[in-house]
Amino acid sequence: MSKKRVVIIGSGVGGSGVGALLAHSGNYEVSLYERNKLIGGRFASYEKDGYKIDVGCHLIANGDKGTLGEILNRVGRPDWVKWQYALKPAPVINFKGKRVRLPKEMSGLGLPDEEIEKIKEFYFRVLSMPESEYEEWEKRSVYSLMQEYSKNETVRAVFGLLSSIYFVITDQETPVSEYALCSKQMVTTRGNGYPLGGTGSVPEAYVKSIREDGGQVFLNAPIERIAVENGEAKGVILKDGKKIEADIVISNAGNKPTVDFLAGRKHYRPEVLARLDKYEYSQCGSTLKIALDEPISDERMVMFIGRDDLDAVEEERRQGIIPEVLTDVMCPVISNLDPKSCPEGRQLIFAGGGQNPIPKNADDKWFKKLEESMFNAVKVIFPGIEKHIIWKTFTSSREIDHMFGEGGNIIGISQKIGQIGPDRPFMVDPCVRNLYHCSADSGMHGIGGELAADAALRLFEILESK
Ligand SMILES: Cc1cc2nc3c(=O)[nH]c(=O)nc-3n(C[C@H](O)[C@H](O)[C@H](O)COP(=O)(O)OP(=O)(O)OC[C@H]3O[C@@H](n4cnc5c(N)ncnc54)[C@H](O)[C@@H]3O)c2cc1C
Repeated sequence: MSKKRVVIIGSGVGGSGVGALLAHSGNYEVSLYERNKLIGGRFASYEKDGYKIDVGCHLIANGDKGTLGEILNRVGRPDWVKWQYALKPAPVINFKGKRVRLPKEMSGLGLPDEEIEKIKEFYFRVLSMPESEYEEWEKRSVYSLMQEYSKNETVRAVFGLLSSIYFVITDQETPVSEYALCSKQMVTTRGNGYPLGGTGSVPEAYVKSIREDGGQVFLNAPIERIAVENGEAKGVILKDGKKIEADIVISNAGNKPTVDFLAGRKHYRPEVLARLDKYEYSQCGSTLKIALDEPISDERMVMFIGRDDLDAVEEERRQGIIPEVLTDVMCPVISNLDPKSCPEGRQLIFAGGGQNPIPKNADDKWFKKLEESMFNAVKVIFPGIEKHIIWKTFTSSREIDHMFGEGGNIIGISQKIGQIGPDRPFMVDPCVRNLYHCSADSGMHGIGGELAADAALRLFEILESK
């Protein structure tokens, strides 16, 4: 039987992941087109002065034990990416300048004993929730469940931070079911970690695997549009007008850009467009990467809570106000996870945080202020850091938007209430035959990159069952 010709648009985790699975099966002739020169979309990494920099700011929920590792297992190349776990020493919360190791040092949060007991009860409730109950918890928020246990602002700030780190949305938007599922998975696998060589090493391994199995990958190769004829995807059109014919087209570009710009809205029924238009993205984020002349920290991951008045924080964000010191900042000390990420004797620290929505009139001055606000948080976390800086580089949501579109959001279409389970965006296109969507948008479960890898695994199963 002849192989089916598959064209994939985009080398993000979803695109390169499904490409690796399809090429390895031997049933498909895979060609992948990536518009950027870097492989991996939001997961890409690059070099600067001997330091390995990720475009994003990453820690991976379940490392080799999650969906990202599962793809490499399925193609028989599990050791093409090596992981460093981040649980020893355990991640630390920096609460208003004070370091607190959870759960051991919970008293460091300054809470009365009865509140600490409530936190434990809440967490136990979340972790012991049977999967059969998840469906009924899809419409309830983490905030509302937490309120049954504690109305304390600090307690809320701790669990709000986790919502913002996992799903990059607020605790009022986070469904209990998704929070429970992801929390339980992390506690079970204990695989929280970082891929050696940077996050880009994961999609790079997938691309290597595609090539090893006879597929082709083209970089700097933007797809202009999908060739749709009589309601069927027949291939793609490159920038120079050349048509690449295909039996199957898979878009990793995201559901909305694929429909709006690549396939074209005229092919879609009004109710499908209405549903698509309603989806909301996760928050936008910015990252600061800091190269230091010597190690100043032996930690692997610090999560910074600068404030616990979350309602006020959210209101300021809505108004586009940037605080003096940004709160909810995640700081992986990359060189303690991957010593080869920087020259010997140096240190590399990342910081990342959300700011949403980005005001329509945000200009250079606004983004400069955001950078300073994030750096002020880093100075609270690592006092004296400014004396050791060789250089620092800031990637704002503007740059992320420029590279990957979708307003520069962090995850993709978010896992907020009303957008999970049966309400996730479609993977099998409902209007254009032979067109499929494979990105974090169409993933079902998981955090960030693992949501995109989940999409790759699910789409592979769908195509193989046809
Ligand atoms: C700042 C930041 C921090 C993050 N932190 C974490 C974290 O700590 N942990 C975690 O797990 N995840 C994190 N994420 C999220 C994670 O990176 C994303 O959810 C995931 O990588 C998305 O993968 P994807 O498959 O949806 O594709 P994307 O990364 O969106 O890639 C899509 C690809 O398609 C390409 N493309 C689009 N249109 C075309 C076209 N017309 N022609 C050719 N190519 C095209 C794009 O160039 C891009 O390479 C973070 C993201 C960011 C930005």
